[in-house]
Amino acid sequence: MNVLVVNAGSSSLKYQLFDTDSGVVKAKGNCERIGIDGRLTHKVPGKEDYVLDTEMKNHEDAVKNVIKALTDDKIGCISSMSEIQAVGHRVVHGGSYFSGSVLANDDVMEKLEMCIDLAPLHTPPAIMGIKGCVAAMPGVPQVLVFDTAFHQTMPKEAYLYAIPYEYYEKYGIRRYGFHGTSHRYVSGEMIKLLDIPAEESRIITCHLGNGSSISAVKGGKVLDTTMGFTPLDGLMMGTRCGAIDPAIVTFLMEKENMSAAEVNAVLNKKSGFLGVSGISSDCRDVFKAIEEGNERAKSTIDALCYQIKKYIGSYAAAMGGVDAIVFTAGIGENTPEIRAGALEGLEFLGVELDLDVNANVPRPISTTCLSKPSSKVKVYLIPTNEELVIANDTAEIVSKL
Ligand code: ADP
Repeated sequence: MNVLVVNAGSSSLKYQLFDTDSGVVKAKGNCERIGIDGRLTHKVPGKEDYVLDTEMKNHEDAVKNVIKALTDDKIGCISSMSEIQAVGHRVVHGGSYFSGSVLANDDVMEKLEMCIDLAPLHTPPAIMGIKGCVAAMPGVPQVLVFDTAFHQTMPKEAYLYAIPYEYYEKYGIRRYGFHGTSHRYVSGEMIKLLDIPAEESRIITCHLGNGSSISAVKGGKVLDTTMGFTPLDGLMMGTRCGAIDPAIVTFLMEKENMSAAEVNAVLNKKSGFLGVSGISSDCRDVFKAIEEGNERAKSTIDALCYQIKKYIGSYAAAMGGVDAIVFTAGIGENTPEIRAGALEGLEFLGVELDLDVNANVPRPISTTCLSKPSSKVKVYLIPTNEELVIANDTAEIVSKL
């Protein structure tokens, strides 16, 4: 089945066309500057990359341009729009409504509207992307795949915050967790590599990218995860602070005379690697500065490794042990120093990292065992593939219609 996977932002729309029978990506690209002027970047394997500056007033315009490119004689890969059998959308927040992927209909769209408050920056663009596809491809089934869905198995003790219960009831303030599609994919791949029954598996998945989160996946279900009500909680990230003492918020508001919006911007956009190192949100720049002797840069990476280690320890405790630790996403896949730093000292838990293998993962990166054969806990690098999960979920739902 040909499935178009769409990831819509406020002024962008990324896409990939999958043949889900073979798992092959037939085309991928990005519409940028939607509502400003408009630029389409389009790639088909074996053909020249294509860039087109063209007006895109809204997401519907963007989708129309994508279809034009996909069906073009020269730069396309299909002969007509009818060859796209379904569309799968990445949606950041499904609140407590969605514990799995769903076919879009009026009821689903109504519930999605109710999730706007939970992710005000991400949900409206996703809705625009879905509506844009419905308008440009009438009759083609649209499936929604949520970043929060895989975490819906979390027990109440893991998702409740110790604030007045009425706020949980009134506003849905609780831990939701994000990157669920990635945690689901890599934990699923890891289960296949373990020689124990899936129901008995205890896996810690470390998705370390520009945004980062760690999950405890017991018996294939999420028991706990580091991101919370929003994607700000947990580990320090490129520009996000991760878990901090909540009293810092009111302290800063008073001392620096900041508004709620200003503190929010500091914690989301000026913290993390950027805030601590003062150099960059990109860990490659932070490592470069360490080589040049920058102490703050070193403290940044040391603090990240320490935080990862702490979560691994607490999740091993929560699951009553751990069979495998998986690293994925930009940093998890590409940064041996952080993997080694996070796992250093965890021998007591049965973790024996093979430092040589860890430091010399061949490129292009593929699934690699990083632990020694004697290691009780398996350590793996598994490249994530959220788009493939979205395409496969979509194909599965649509094939049953
Ligand atoms: P996003 O959360 O935006 O998808 P990524 O998963 O691409 O982000 O992760 C971005 C982070 O991964 C950056 O800090 C970057 O330094 C790091 N990273 C990405 N690619 C590499 C690479 N080839 N080598 C080292 N670090 C990388």
